[in-house]
Amino acid sequence: MKYILVSGGVISGIGKGIFASSLGVLLKTLGLRVTAIKIDPYMNIDAGTMSPIEHGEVFVLNDGGEVDLDLGNYERFLDVTLTKDNNITTGKIYQQVIQKERKGEYLGKTVQVVPHITDAIQEWIERVAMISVDHSGEKPDVCIIELGGTVGDIESAPFIEAMRQFQFRVGHENFALAHVSLVPIIGPVGEQKTKPTQTTIRELRALGLSPDLVGNGRNDSRMFSRIKYQLKRHINLQIACRCCKPLEPEVRGKISMFCHVGKEQVISVRDVLSTYHVPLLLKEQGVLSFFRKRLDLNIMHISTEQR
Ligand code: ADP
Repeated sequence: MKYILVSGGVISGIGKGIFASSLGVLLKTLGLRVTAIKIDPYMNIDAGTMSPIEHGEVFVLNDGGEVDLDLGNYERFLDVTLTKDNNITTGKIYQQVIQKERKGEYLGKTVQVVPHITDAIQEWIERVAMISVDHSGEKPDVCIIELGGTVGDIESAPFIEAMRQFQFRVGHENFALAHVSLVPIIGPVGEQKTKPTQTTIRELRALGLSPDLVGNGRNDSRMFSRIKYQLKRHINLQIACRCCKPLEPEVRGKISMFCHVGKEQVISVRDVLSTYHVPLLLKEQGVLSFFRKRLDLNIMHISTEQR
């Protein structure tokens, strides 16, 4: 099972859901079975009791689950049928952990956010990712996990920590991270500003989701192999930049340099009239080939025609 985490920075409502769904569509074109999990870091058990004025319409799943609208995007884009467990909320995780605590299942241990909440999150994701979501009845190949909110929020901290641990739990070759950020256009000359993206990527790295190079000044072979390993780990990250216009080449170069990723890892997601164009935008910029290589995606069960 391959996992792709989609996180977001700078502002909420930046387009993580559309990006994640579009990525899923592209992966489906390879013949892969794709599922999705949406994490909503709020204490409500589900969206059913939340005001539509504040939260947007509730999306009702086939099993009666009342969830965030993003799950509707996933169902439409990916042609899948999701379950209420495909939507994780802080409320659901805490409810599960507290119920276990009341039954004495933690055997007298002090129940804490780390490791009990973070373990519960990881177990939930691993369990739900295996559930078949299409007519084939087979388990999916790729699970896209969308982390709601913006990185750095207090609310999402346990989920970020869980994901930090998760990348080691499932292995580097099975976990990739895409971060959606904002490139605002400011001033009369219409300059595309990269600072918010630099800041959010720094914050992400500080939380351990893409570790920085750590040099200790020693010029020996162990040091070099460590640097090589860590550089490889940086390929984890792909940055999707939301902007009303396509990214200028020099802006892409600047983001690549300051955020320590290759230029091909900086993706321009400009405003489009229909969000169904977003998969094409991503494909044009090589997103599919990036993830194919990065996650060593197995496309053995695809017919020659589809290839
Ligand atoms: P998030 O998941 O970050 O909250 P959504 O994916 O729900 O954000 O998108 C927020 C709004 O922005 C939606 O109305 C969506 O249709 C719109 N949107 C997202 N990406 C684009 C885009 N590239 N061009 C135009 N509108 C977009």
